[in-house]
Order: sequence, then C-alpha cells, then structure tokens
Amino acid sequence: MERTIYIPNMADHAYPLSAALRSCGIPAEALPESDDQTLLLGRKYSTGRECFPFIVTTGDFLRKIEEPGFDPDKAAFFMPLASGPCRFGQYSHIHRVFLDRLGHKQVAVISPTSANSYADIGGASLKLRIRAWQALVATDILQKLLHETRPYEVNQGDTDRVYKKALAKLTEAVEKGKNLVRLMKQIAEEFKQIKIDRRERKPIIGIVGEIFMRNNRFSNDNVIRRVEALGGEAWLAPISEWIYYTTQRYKEDSAAERKYRDLLKAILQEKVQRYYEHRLEKPVKKLLLNNEEPRTTEVLQYSAPYMHFSFGGEAILTIGKAVDYIRKGASGIINVMPFSCMPGTVVAIVSKRFREDFNGIPWLNASYDGQEDASMLVRLEAFMHQARQYRDKRRFG
Ligand code: SF4
Repeated sequence: MERTIYIPNMADHAYPLSAALRSCGIPAEALPESDDQTLLLGRKYSTGRECFPFIVTTGDFLRKIEEPGFDPDKAAFFMPLASGPCRFGQYSHIHRVFLDRLGHKQVAVISPTSANSYADIGGASLKLRIRAWQALVATDILQKLLHETRPYEVNQGDTDRVYKKALAKLTEAVEKGKNLVRLMKQIAEEFKQIKIDRRERKPIIGIVGEIFMRNNRFSNDNVIRRVEALGGEAWLAPISEWIYYTTQRYKEDSAAERKYRDLLKAILQEKVQRYYEHRLEKPVKKLLLNNEEPRTTEVLQYSAPYMHFSFGGEAILTIGKAVDYIRKGASGIINVMPFSCMPGTVVAIVSKRFREDFNGIPWLNASYDGQEDASMLVRLEAFMHQARQYRDKRRFG
C-alpha cells in the first residue's frame, strides 16, 4: 500500500525535500510548522525526560494524526536515525512505541540511518538521492542569501518576500526535475535587486549547535530574527554539514572495517555531493561573504584541540564550525541547544577554554525547552553588546 511520507518541518528544507520524493513518484508532504498545539500534544504524551526536539516532533506527528481525514493506513512519518553519543538514535524507536501505545499501530515510521549516510532513502534510488541532496544544498544557499541580505535591507520585508518566492520556485523546480543551476542564477538576480545599505557590516554571529534547535525557529524562539533585531547578522550552520559528516564517518568506518565496496561508495558519494554543491553555489558566490563551506576534515581539525575525533556527533561539528565562522569574521557565537542536551552541555563546558583561545570572543550557550524565558532576551542583549565591542576591537585593533 502506498503511503504518504510526512517530513517534520525542522526547517524550510522540508519543502524542497518532500518535492524531491514526489519527483520520484513517492507521495510526500512537509508537515506544517510547529505551534502551541504541537507543544501541548508533545508534552501530554511524553514523560518529561525526553529531549525537546523529540517532544516537538512527537507533537507534530500527533497533530497530523488528529487532522480530519487522516488515514493511518496510508501514512508514514519520516524520522532519520543517527548513531553517536546521545539519545537521537532512539527517537524513531520511541516514536514507534508512542504511536503503538496511543493506538496508531498502522502508522509507519521511516528511519534511514546515518550509519550508511542515509543510503537507504527511497530504496537507495540514485535519482532520488541526487535530487534530495540538491534540494538540501540549494535551500542552505537560499538561507545564506536571506541571512546576509535581510539585516541590510532598506525596505523592510523585501528580503523575506524574495526568499519566500525563491523557496517556492525551488520546491516547484525540484518536483518537476528542472535545472536548478539555471534557477539559482535567476534567484541570484532577484536578490541583487533588493535595495540594501551595507556601508557598515554589522557584527556577525555564528549560530551553531544541535541541528534541530538551531534550525527550528519555533523551538529556538526565532533566535536569528532576535539577533537581527538587536543589530546583528546571523550565520546559520548549514544542514549539509551533517550530511557531509555522515559521509565522512561512513568512509572512515568502511576503511576501518575493510569494507572496500562501501569505502568506494562513500568516496564516490562525497565527490557527487561536492560536484552538485559547487554547481549550485557558483551563481550566488559573489553575493555572499560566507560563500564556501569547509571540508569535514577541516572542521574536525578545527575541533581537535578541544575534543577527540572519536567523540562523534554534533558536539565536534559545533566547535569546528565555530572556529570556521571566527576565521570568516564572526564576532560572536551562539550555541543553540535543547535543555539538558548531552552534546550541547559538553560544548558549553568546552566553550570556556575556547573563548580564551579566541581573545575572549562572546559566546552564548542558549538552551531552550519551549518555556518563555525573559532572561534569555536580557542575555542576548548583553551578548550583542559584547559582540559589537569585539567587532570594533577586531577592526580597529
Ligand atoms: S543532540 Fe541533544 S537533544 Fe538531540 S538527541 Fe542528542 S541529547 Fe537529545
């Protein structure tokens, strides 16, 4: 029986990603953005010990189930698995238990795993994997354009309007299997038309941390807009970073286990990923300061003084990406994490030494749990003040 795959709306990438599935004949839909109802349902059915992203995704699944006309026999929720030193590897199993307990046994949970760099997505169809990759990378690029343009727009709302239009065009183009390079050229032209005033570059803030929280604006209380409202420019670590990392791990693990077929697959996969990323970013490169992503091996080298490479997962990427952003000119780093997140807490501990190594760069460990937190705004204001000072010191010595 053909099921519709529902993709959690962690970020805007959910729209082009679901379009990639549809383009290969797989019914798919991005779930709507999370809201208060999400939290209500997620909290109602969880024990309170789960990670916050789990509560949000559970709430979104249940909200969908409660919709009139929802057919459990024709539905599947998408919840990728990841190995690493935390609870993420358990999400899809616990979702299964929850759904069963609540009487939704017919609803499927689809869980490709990071252990083979998500090779089993869509039955490992190469066409789908390439389209899904392009969809993710192109959305990362659109977000870079958004975040580097919006803080300088002369007419408020122009950038959001162009971005939304671009995202819709991208989703349509992915679904129809159109040439995305041509589309990126068009999108670059549209962003160029936005009237901006960039006589003075605002302090750049690197947004790093747990992948769900840093991307999900509902869960992180719209941290990027808050930074912008306080006079900053926020750079968000891209989702492709995680996919490259899983490819790297796939390569290393295959080599260690002498699985040479898998090793070859991983090497080819990385080459294909780089090829498409390069083609898609070329048309917009001149518009961006943050226009080149470091290789995973570079990121791992950056984090090596702070964490052993065997400490797999997001902590190592968070530290490495923070170094990359500082090298590119960031004047502050926000480590976005769910309350009680294990890798996030490790990063928070390491951040003290990290700051000392980078001339006391402002660093904010921002943990969220869905509760309103007035103190966060005060901390953000103080952080932005320090970031401005750091930028000036950097500029004028
Ligand atoms: S990264 Fe943090 S929030 Fe995400 S599953 Fe692991 S412990 Fe939970």
